[in-house]
Amino acid sequence: MIITKPRDFSRIIANLEGIGAKRVFLMGCGQCATVAKTGGEPELEAMAAQLRDAGYEVTGWAVGEVACHLGGTKLETRKRVGDIAAADAVLVLSCGAGVQTVADSVDRPVFPGLESVFLGNVIRAGVFEERCQTCGDCVLDLTAGICPVTTCPKGLLNGPCGGMWDGMCEVLTDRECAHVRIRRRLAEQGRVAAKVVPPKDFSAKLKPGSLSLREERRRDARKRHDVTQGGRS
Ligand code: SF4
Ligand code: SF4
Repeated sequence: MIITKPRDFSRIIANLEGIGAKRVFLMGCGQCATVAKTGGEPELEAMAAQLRDAGYEVTGWAVGEVACHLGGTKLETRKRVGDIAAADAVLVLSCGAGVQTVADSVDRPVFPGLESVFLGNVIRAGVFEERCQTCGDCVLDLTAGICPVTTCPKGLLNGPCGGMWDGMCEVLTDRECAHVRIRRRLAEQGRVAAKVVPPKDFSAKLKPGSLSLREERRRDARKRHDVTQGGRS
């Protein structure tokens, strides 16, 4: 899930003052920001109270199912069209993807109410860790399911580095070196560590990323069709 944290309230106020906004509509997200307790119903109610204390009118608020889902967010904003029209700005308590989806769905200026910090694993309630940077060329098959790109602070594919001491990381000194963990798990599973993990294909991470599953399926179907036809000729 996308991990978010509250944005400095003074930045939010500066954004609203920048366009002379007095009335604000709030939107949250029923998925990641709700789990992270940054953009669910309680957080929207708290933000509404904070804005009212600061002299703003809150015309309403809504928590859609998934803020980054264009169809769902358009539907949600259509349901609240009157409250949004009565607002000078929309403040979104979701990740940046959700903020952009709302900005594509309404005609009012849209501002982020949170900071998006990383793609995270939920370790337990309220505790999140970054384990993957969505690099598009995964090496977990070679590294026993431990990502060196993310969990080694230097992002080294091959390690340990010269700073590792007694199994511990030289950067995050309270943590075990990621490469020590990788080698131990591989050994425990009777697997042989790769001599060298080859350089990654960074072109797989060109921005902005996009993926159309429909297009992929069409391409696969065309390939299957070509193979079948080739086999017959
Ligand atoms: S190598 Fe690491 S960053 Fe890349 S996809 Fe795999 S887990 Fe994610
Ligand atoms: S000690 Fe290990 S985890 Fe820490 S920076 Fe060096 S290789 Fe990476």
